[in-house]
Amino acid sequence: MADGAAGPSRVARAFRGTRLWIFDLDNTLYPSECNLFAEIDWRMSAFIQNLLGLDPAAARKVQKELYYEHGTTLSGLMARHGIKPEAFLDYVHDIDLSPVQRAPELAHAIARLEGRKFIFTNGSERHAERVAGKLGVLDKFDGIYDIAAGGYVPKPKPEAFKRFLEFCDGANSKAAMFEDLPHNLEPAHALGIVTVLVHSDYEDHPSQLALKEADELPPYIQFETGDLTAFLAAIPLA
Ligand SMILES: [Mg+2]
Repeated sequence: MADGAAGPSRVARAFRGTRLWIFDLDNTLYPSECNLFAEIDWRMSAFIQNLLGLDPAAARKVQKELYYEHGTTLSGLMARHGIKPEAFLDYVHDIDLSPVQRAPELAHAIARLEGRKFIFTNGSERHAERVAGKLGVLDKFDGIYDIAAGGYVPKPKPEAFKRFLEFCDGANSKAAMFEDLPHNLEPAHALGIVTVLVHSDYEDHPSQLALKEADELPPYIQFETGDLTAFLAAIPLA
């Protein structure tokens, strides 16, 4: 267990001098128990159901195939069916945010970190603004890098990370990234970014299922936590 067995000194060493803090949004800044992403996920299936005239089970199957093959469902729909991304994003993010609770301790834990902080999401900026606003953390961030800003190239494609670092002029900053999808941390680690897996109960990607079966973390995941706020609060300031 990289996190628990590591102890404070390993955390201190790993994060010393970090000045660029990168956060995924869905199932990372808010817990998967909110079921918010589950609703987005089902709306993606519904969009495909309407688009292709499929029954719900067939649409679900197509959605997951596109997701696994193209990185995101949206990328798959754009590549295979030429859809307009804005219509898809507006539809899937049209969700009820009432399950999201204000998170003042998380806001404080983010605010105390030295350096710049960004949300890096495969969703839309509007969705990130709404969710981060509801959590009460939006004003703690220096910016949001969404899927449109990235030219619809999603994580985990290395090109998405390259573009993100150009966007925030962060290539020379020591950086750390927090994310619930294991495979999205692999390209981050390859760039020298300290990686933290935030555990999610929403496990439907093969990389999450593989990790569940594994005895140890893959080398590209340096830390793991089930509590982002506590993890951030325990990072020594330096
Ligand atoms: Mg996520």
